[in-house]
Amino acid sequence: MISPVMPTYARADLAFARGEGVYLYTADGERYLDFAAGIAVNALGHGHPRLVSALAEQGAALWHVSNLYRIPDQERLAERLVANSFADSVFFSNSGAEAVECGVKMVRRYFDEAGEPGRYRIITCAGAFHGRTLAAIAAGGQEKHLAGFDPVVDGFDQVAFGNLNELRAAIGPETAAILVEPVLGEGGVRVADPEYLRGLRAVADEYGLLLFFDEVQCGMGRTGRLFAHEWAGVTPDIMALAKALGGGFPVAACLATGRVAACMTTGTHGSTFGGNPLAMAVANAVLDVMLADGFLDTVERMGNILRGRLDEIAARRPEAVEDVRGLGLMLGMKLRTDARDMVERLRGRGLLTVAAGDNVLRLVPPLIIEESHIDEAAAILDRCLAEAPA
Ligand SMILES: *Cc1c(COP(=O)(O)O)cnc(C)c1O
Repeated sequence: MISPVMPTYARADLAFARGEGVYLYTADGERYLDFAAGIAVNALGHGHPRLVSALAEQGAALWHVSNLYRIPDQERLAERLVANSFADSVFFSNSGAEAVECGVKMVRRYFDEAGEPGRYRIITCAGAFHGRTLAAIAAGGQEKHLAGFDPVVDGFDQVAFGNLNELRAAIGPETAAILVEPVLGEGGVRVADPEYLRGLRAVADEYGLLLFFDEVQCGMGRTGRLFAHEWAGVTPDIMALAKALGGGFPVAACLATGRVAACMTTGTHGSTFGGNPLAMAVANAVLDVMLADGFLDTVERMGNILRGRLDEIAARRPEAVEDVRGLGLMLGMKLRTDARDMVERLRGRGLLTVAAGDNVLRLVPPLIIEESHIDEAAAILDRCLAEAPA
């Protein structure tokens, strides 16, 4: 018989009752060190006092009014995202896929308004992940996500990640944009070379294409910069954000330059829940913490420390680890043993991680971790890798 919860997930038989900082606890008090962070979502860990009070205060005042009215905290969050990015305007939604969808619609409408309605195709990368709506699975282009859901939404052409020549060759008269994750998350924590990102900007400018970065996973402080593309010194025209934006409260955003966003006039797009007072209160609190002096520097420093530990482990256990990759606190170990099996073993020892594509063990801890947490995780990791079957 089918379960009341639709069986779309392969869940671990484990439930948590409470979280505190970098730890999760089951109802009977078992403790887990959380280096999964709800898939790079709980950037400030669990039960962060600033987020808890922001949610409680807003919860007592006002939850939802819809976008029929002004939402002062939405205006404030948009102003702050604009002030701290390349963008001039923001559309709020509730999930990463919706933020990507907004960007895709914006690409199409931008060229339509420019009198080139035939220009709608978007070049994406093999191994990418952009969410699970019909357009997002077409953009991601992964067979396992597309299977059974034909017809595929038209308008996406895939090229190899990191290959500018292949990308140039894929540009045709209908090409409108390039959509890339600066760090592939689900696709195995692969970091785009800064040269590649600069090359994408140059190609986009040369052909009059829009550059669209999906920073749903790598954005919001994860790499030690507010946005991962800052490392390359280039800016996109459109960017999708979600995961860490609300620190665990569902909220997403699609940012764009004024030139591009100008096509999104009244009535062209919308969301009932998007940018509601509860989400905005929490996201503003997340930003308060992330923009405070020293926060991102500490993320970078902790990222370097964790990276160093992973490199040491990899050097000690070449039979188990093929390489270490990532940026900031978005790190991965490509294993020679099965990554999903390793996630289970680590969980059995009290360390939560996530598997990613390319047989990678993904480590995306809360950005508030301290060195002691890194020591604790490294010890568990080293032990489990030592025990893993060759
Ligand atoms: C998680 C993710 C998405 C989809 O986000 P949802 O909130 O699950 O819709 C899109 N793009 C990237 C890069 C992601 O990591």
